[in-house]
Amino acid sequence: EAMTLTIPFDNSYAALPEGFYTKLAPTPVARPSLVAFNRDLADMLGIEAPADDAEAARVFSGSSVPRGADPLAQLYAGHQFGQFNPQLGDGRAHLLGEVVGRDGVRRDIQLKGSGPTPYSRMGDGRAWLGPVLREYVVSEAMHAMGVPTTRALAAVRTGEEVIREAPLPGAVLTRVARSHIRVGTFQVFAARRDGPALERLYDYTVARHYPEVTDPGDLLARVIDAQAELVAHWMSLGFIHGVMNTDNCTLSGETIDYGPCAFMDAYHPETVFSSIDRYGRYGYANQADIIVWNMAQLATALLPLMPDPEAAVEPFTAQVHAMPERIRAAWERRFAAKIGISGPRPEDRALVADLLTRMAANQADFTNTFRGLARGTARDEFTNRADFDEWETRWRARIEGEAEPDALMNRSNPAFIPRNHRVEQMIDAAVDGDDAPFHRLLDVLSRPFEDQPEAAELARAPLPEERVPATFC
Ligand code: AMP
Ligand code: MG
Ligand code: MG
Repeated sequence: EAMTLTIPFDNSYAALPEGFYTKLAPTPVARPSLVAFNRDLADMLGIEAPADDAEAARVFSGSSVPRGADPLAQLYAGHQFGQFNPQLGDGRAHLLGEVVGRDGVRRDIQLKGSGPTPYSRMGDGRAWLGPVLREYVVSEAMHAMGVPTTRALAAVRTGEEVIREAPLPGAVLTRVARSHIRVGTFQVFAARRDGPALERLYDYTVARHYPEVTDPGDLLARVIDAQAELVAHWMSLGFIHGVMNTDNCTLSGETIDYGPCAFMDAYHPETVFSSIDRYGRYGYANQADIIVWNMAQLATALLPLMPDPEAAVEPFTAQVHAMPERIRAAWERRFAAKIGISGPRPEDRALVADLLTRMAANQADFTNTFRGLARGTARDEFTNRADFDEWETRWRARIEGEAEPDALMNRSNPAFIPRNHRVEQMIDAAVDGDDAPFHRLLDVLSRPFEDQPEAAELARAPLPEERVPATFC
């Protein structure tokens, strides 16, 4: 059939040496049917509208490869839960190619769940509908909240079943990213002592993401900065990534690979959702430590690029050791803004920490407590209201001189997050063929900082019987 959907591909990763990837086409699926297509994002990317949903479904399921695409599976390695795996790679994803958007930014267009590759190991190369829709909704919500993130361009049902604990409907997600270069991409070549490949990856990464960078130590500094900001941003929203393996940690500083991720309801620093995170390695508050560990792995992989690697150990180590302070500064600025303080002072950290301690003791809802500060409803989140009232007196005194604390709080504290129980309900409905909850969630979460009284049920914390304590993917 003639295709009207045109994607202005301009591929650069496919021009890198063969050892960086395996070129291969996605595996066509039985009966592709479109669940969602992100028109605003498509416009930004310069993608011309598909003739109809059927055409979009064929292209974004990998059943027909659009002109100009040069599909490939990328090679990478990574530390998974602290254990180094010298070879991972896209086991169920195909990079179709890149486009330079209307904003001048180059982005990858990748299919996820699009069939097996040489890197699939024991996997089937597929994804089921649940995680595809979770990634779609959560990544788009993160974008709307201003968090650097990959985005979702399309979701397609495959018309095939995938076997997990039970047979489940298959789906393919089309993901858009500034790139898919991960800490693990550097690690794979460093582990193989492949100097020329490492050199080539370094040049490519600098040209694509940090053109002003002058040497590997400088690249490390930029990535540390971006990741420090990112993790502080996550924490300010109650977000828990769930699988912060080094292969899920980008050089661009975008959030990537939404697996068993979730947002906290009741505040507790040790909150864990992921069913595969048995020891809480990637729990809420640990994320600030783990990202430092991940940057230490990046530093190690960058060392061979230095003319005298021995001599670079000390300055690279110093950069990694300085990262916690960098995260703390970002954390303080974001949490100060959440309580209406525009220019934080050192003592404000204790004020924020005291609120969080009281929230944990009262199982206060994270999102609704902060959003409720400007609204005057925060105390309703506390079982012992006096706990809030004591804090409030000191807080009010502190923000007295602030010009517009309510406006600052209302743009720092979302009214709507993708609450885990709503995400799970949305997935259950979609499995039963009802996509309305998916579209509604997506619509409400596209304006997370707006009060939307007609969507109050999506702002409400889960009732005890609604709580979903674990995520699977
Ligand atoms: P993740 O934890 O989702 O980042 O995945 C870790 C690695 O496992 C990556 O190399 C994935 O491509 C691969 N993988 C995950 N699920 C599958 C699957 N169903 N089939 C093949 N490979 C997979
Ligand atoms: Mg991954
Ligand atoms: Mg994944």
